[in-house]
Amino acid sequence: MNTKYIFVTGGVVSSLGKGIISASIGKLLQARGYKVTIQKFDPYINIDPGTLNPYEHGECYVTVDGMETDLDLGHYERFTGIRTTRENSQTTGKIYQAVIDKERRGDYLGKTIQVVPHITNEIKARIKANATREHFDFVITEIGGTIGDIESAPFMEAIRQLRWEMGRNAINIHLTYVPYLRAAGELKTKPTQHSVKELQSMGIQPDILILRTEMHLEKGLLQKVASFCNVEPDCVVQSEDLPSIYEVPLNMQKQGLDAAIIRKLGEEVGPTPEMKAWRSFVDKEKNATEELHIGLVGKYDLQDAYKSIRESLSLAAVYNDCKAKLHFVNSEEITKDNVSERLAGLAGVIICPGFGQRGIEGKLSAAEYTRTHDIPTFGICLGMQMMVIEFARNVLGYADANSSEMAKTTHNVIDIMEDQKNITNMGGTMRLGAYGCDLEDGSKVRSIYGAQHIEERHRHRYEFNNAFREEYEAAGMKCVGKNPESDLVEIVEIPEKKWYIGTQFHPEYSSSVLNPHPLFMDFIKNIK
Ligand code: GLN
Repeated sequence: MNTKYIFVTGGVVSSLGKGIISASIGKLLQARGYKVTIQKFDPYINIDPGTLNPYEHGECYVTVDGMETDLDLGHYERFTGIRTTRENSQTTGKIYQAVIDKERRGDYLGKTIQVVPHITNEIKARIKANATREHFDFVITEIGGTIGDIESAPFMEAIRQLRWEMGRNAINIHLTYVPYLRAAGELKTKPTQHSVKELQSMGIQPDILILRTEMHLEKGLLQKVASFCNVEPDCVVQSEDLPSIYEVPLNMQKQGLDAAIIRKLGEEVGPTPEMKAWRSFVDKEKNATEELHIGLVGKYDLQDAYKSIRESLSLAAVYNDCKAKLHFVNSEEITKDNVSERLAGLAGVIICPGFGQRGIEGKLSAAEYTRTHDIPTFGICLGMQMMVIEFARNVLGYADANSSEMAKTTHNVIDIMEDQKNITNMGGTMRLGAYGCDLEDGSKVRSIYGAQHIEERHRHRYEFNNAFREEYEAAGMKCVGKNPESDLVEIVEIPEKKWYIGTQFHPEYSSSVLNPHPLFMDFIKNIK
């Protein structure tokens, strides 16, 4: 079959969950046996979100091939299990950079370079890029931002042109919001009508509308929206608030969203897939009652900053028939004196990734407390580095031990990599993406993974300093995962503790609903 293109746009307000809807559509089409990919086009000017503060944009998600991307790519991967690549994440910055590079090279043969057609052509080419390298039945393209934003105009124009060129091979799905006005006791469709009008004024007629709502919408209201917006009645569906985002695909399937998409794109609608494994996950999630209290020691007091870690813990908890109750513990507020009180009642602790000096002393106090009280602890990236520094200070006896990211000392047990030393640009210059790791026979991680060689994704500049490796091993902290080419230490563990493991990589990027990550699974199993 020809590749079909689905464009997902959003209107009225941001944060409606376009990423979850795009991921759900991907899941539903995949469940019907189609080959699907999902990509995000963000209208902001940063080349990638790698240099953005998490307060601005939440977590930075890293693809296997080392692109720093928007956290929605995490949803795409967790829902569908597909591996996205750098082509799946585009921004205005990336697009302009490519156009300007071409202009400098003289590729445009003396033409005046304009938003239309040069920028829009670049957007169109990038929307089609994934499917020119590999066959996909469906390419879902989510456009970031809200309709009407100045910076999204070139993207809308590109979609308008593509829909015209592709005919029945492309549709637009528009996600809007239906607010409930308490004082009037009414649900209001006017914002949706306005949003569709705005879309139409750009030459785009939506094929399918998804209405986000906090209250159930009656059929009559959906029909009213359909007739006001020139959309077929069965092409208006609602996306009500649900207890879990993982129920969204099932709710969309129940309303026939996937069937409507396939029909609109001119394909035969086959039988509705049962989605047994997904349903059984959702049932398990609903039935889990036992609560597991887990602390996230970090400096960003924002749920989205540690999105993939949160989801990885929640998924693993469901498979262990319990609910992960996650407690953010602000590392900036932890001191040696209050650490026992701050971590009281927690069955396990995650020491979170991060950059820079702020909050690291609190992370070190937490690592010391959990190590000396044998509380299961999982250090991720900067978290692993904190475990290593704490061990040097309090076990090896090097009071000035630190990472060279924070201070130059005589005991930089975490040090900058040789090939990072002369880098001055901040964007895209870290050790990024998947690298191999050999696991030590007889170690905990070797049995947790059930494999000798693994690949995991990285996002860091600093490393365990191999000059200290023997001292660590002799004192009980083992280097149990190493990169075979560079000999860099990727995992440390203290075997005599219940669960005290630190990874230089980010295992949270590769958890998915149907394939929870073995490290998170084992961590949960051990704190139950
Ligand atoms: N700041 C540390 C480094 O660059 C850790 C990064 C992280 O936690 N992702 O090595």
